[in-house]
Amino acid sequence: MQSSHSGQPVNDEVEITAKFRRSEVLAQPPREPKAQPDIVPFVRFGAKTDLGNVRENNEDKFDFFEPTEPVLLAERGSVYAVCDGMGGHSAGQIASELALKTFLKAYYDLELPDIDTALYSAVQAANALVREVAQSIPGRRGMGTTLTAAALCEGDAHIVHVGDSRCYLIRGEVIEQITDDHSYVMEQVRQGLLSPEEAQHSPYRNVITRSIGMDALEPDIYRVPLQAGDRLVLCTDGLTTHVPDAQIAEVVRSHSPSAAAQRLVEMALEDGGSDNVTVVVVHILELLSWEQARQIGWV
Ligand code: MG
Repeated sequence: MQSSHSGQPVNDEVEITAKFRRSEVLAQPPREPKAQPDIVPFVRFGAKTDLGNVRENNEDKFDFFEPTEPVLLAERGSVYAVCDGMGGHSAGQIASELALKTFLKAYYDLELPDIDTALYSAVQAANALVREVAQSIPGRRGMGTTLTAAALCEGDAHIVHVGDSRCYLIRGEVIEQITDDHSYVMEQVRQGLLSPEEAQHSPYRNVITRSIGMDALEPDIYRVPLQAGDRLVLCTDGLTTHVPDAQIAEVVRSHSPSAAAQRLVEMALEDGGSDNVTVVVVHILELLSWEQARQIGWV
């Protein structure tokens, strides 16, 4: 049984998230692409990014791609992603832009046999490019970005993650943080050396331990079997620094995805808006069969 962070059970029967090890991800044998998916998540999504009240430029970015070709829907599905760039001057903005563009392009390369391998390789492609730019252009040294992305394919969400942006699953009354923050303070919390409250106020809370731009980067990859009604939230730390999980859940449950993204950004700004803030909300309305998806004109 999987537990939420508040200790409440999310589901009594199935473990809803499973972390993949790199060896398992890379061990998938090649196979013929499927002509079309068996299951199509019927979703509505909304997104919002904002400079915040303090920063001079927005180094956060979100992007998405919802393919219409049946083969791409079957093999890769739709992707929603956020990045939070870092580095002086405009370097962070360039890092998040380059990382997202490269990640999406590499992910939809069908040479790779399966989704998790494609997610892993796409992160490596983004990492290689950001490192190359950082090393070759003075003033861009040390630039990097977080990356948290959800690929919705068949009945699953595949989440890939580096850094301290987050993916949450909101199912019924429960909000679960799917991703672990790759931050110095959260690693201390996981080891029992700091309390979550101390982490919140630590001067080291912005130090991240994994990001696009680092040597030998290992992303975390998770798979979440979806249920109709699930909502996924992807967000940067500009939201989670200011808005507690319970409020995120409440707003997302009571608004459309667009209105929820807008309202959550407003709440982060009202609380100080100390950072750029970005929110993507994906509401899984139904899991349709291919035939149903065609009948309603969704594909
Ligand atoms: Mg940030």
